[in-house]
Amino acid sequence: MFKKRINMILIVFIMCICAIFETTCAVEGSVSAPPPEFCGGIEQPHTWGIWFIETYATCTAREQQYRICSNCDVKNYKEVGNPIGHEYDNNWVNTPATCTETGGLKRTCIRYGCTQKESQGEQTPILGHVLDWIITTASTCYDYGTQTRSCIREGCEYITDETQDVLPMEHDFQNYFSNDDATGTADGTKTANCENGCWTTNTINDDGSKLIAPSAPLGVSAQATYSIYITINWIYTSDINYFIIYRSTGSSDHFEYLAETSSTSYRDNEVSTNTKYHYIVTAIDNNNLESNESNAVSATTSPDAPSGVTATVIGNSIIVTWNPVEGASMYVVYTFTAGTFYIHDPNITQFARVYSGAVVGDYFSVTAFNATTNLESARSIQVYARVD
Ligand SMILES: [Zn+2]
Ligand SMILES: [Zn+2]
Ligand SMILES: [Zn+2]
Ligand SMILES: [Zn+2]
Repeated sequence: MFKKRINMILIVFIMCICAIFETTCAVEGSVSAPPPEFCGGIEQPHTWGIWFIETYATCTAREQQYRICSNCDVKNYKEVGNPIGHEYDNNWVNTPATCTETGGLKRTCIRYGCTQKESQGEQTPILGHVLDWIITTASTCYDYGTQTRSCIREGCEYITDETQDVLPMEHDFQNYFSNDDATGTADGTKTANCENGCWTTNTINDDGSKLIAPSAPLGVSAQATYSIYITINWIYTSDINYFIIYRSTGSSDHFEYLAETSSTSYRDNEVSTNTKYHYIVTAIDNNNLESNESNAVSATTSPDAPSGVTATVIGNSIIVTWNPVEGASMYVVYTFTAGTFYIHDPNITQFARVYSGAVVGDYFSVTAFNATTNLESARSIQVYARVD
C-alpha cells in the first residue's frame, strides 16, 4: 500500500513536469512490455488458428469472432465491423405509454429478439415506475423471507436492488379436530395443523367435550313367578350399548352386580324361596358411560314347598300333616280322588278326609300360598295312603 502511494506521487509529479514543458513524452517504465504468452505451461507464443464467428452482429452489437490455439486450446476473442442498426417496417401502431416509454405512434424493430421502438408525432408522457415491496422469497414459520422493491405496474418487470427481510410467519391454527379422548369426567383435547404447512401441530383442551352419561332406565318393575324366578322389565327408548342389573337381598342399599343384557328385560333365576329381592338397572352407552341408577324395585319369591308331609290312616279317615311354612298365609291340599282343598289358616298344618264304602287309596300333595304376593309354592312331595 505504502509503496503504491509513492509510485502514484511519482507519476503525478512527472506528468506535471511534462505539462509545464508542453512536450509529449513517454515516461520510461510506465508502459510495460506485453505480457509473456504461456502456451501449454511454457513461456512461448500460442499457435493461433483462423478466426471463426462467435456471434453475428445485431442491431446494436458488433460481430464477435474467436480463434483457438492449436497447441493449448486457449480461446482469443475480437469484435469486428459495426452493429447492423435497427430495421423498421411501416407498421405504425398507437401504443399506450408505459413506465419507461412514451405513448403514441410507434413502430418496432423487426429483427428477431429486438424490441427497439421508434416514435412518431406527439407522444404521451412516460408513466414512471410504481414501486412497492414484492415478496421474492416467502417467509415460513421458522425462516425469514425476502422482499424486493419492484414496479407493481402490470406488464413492467422493473426490479430495484433494494431488498429487505420479511419476518417469519406466525403459526396459523384454525381447524381443530377432536382427539376423541374425552371421558365422562374430563374434557378431551383437540389438535390443529399449522395452516402454513410447517408441520407444527397445536393441541388444546376441547372445552365442553366431556361426555354426558346416558339417562337412567324408566318404568322398572320386578315380578316374581311361581317355580321360581323374578322377571325385571324396564323401558329405554334411546340407543344404548347394554344394561346392568344390580340386586340386593334384604336391605335395599347393598346392591351388587347381577348381570348385564342388551334387552329391556331380565329373568333372575338365581333366587331362593320366600326371599325379598331389590333391583336397580343402569344403562351403559357406547362410550362405556353408565347412567344413574333407576328407581329400586323389589319382589318376593314364593314360599317353600311344605316339607315333612305324611299321610296317616285312622279308621276310615286319612290325615295329612306337614311342617309349617314361613311366609305362608294359607295352604292348598291337592288330592287325587276328591279335588283341591284350601286351608285359610296358616297355623293349621293338617288336613283330614273321611272315606266311606270300598277300599280307597289316595294321593296327596300340599302347597303354601302367600296372599300378599299372591304366589303359591311348588308342590310338596306326593304321599299315598289307603283306607281298607
Ligand atoms: Zn497455446
Ligand atoms: Zn433492432
Ligand atoms: Zn414499471
Ligand atoms: Zn407454522
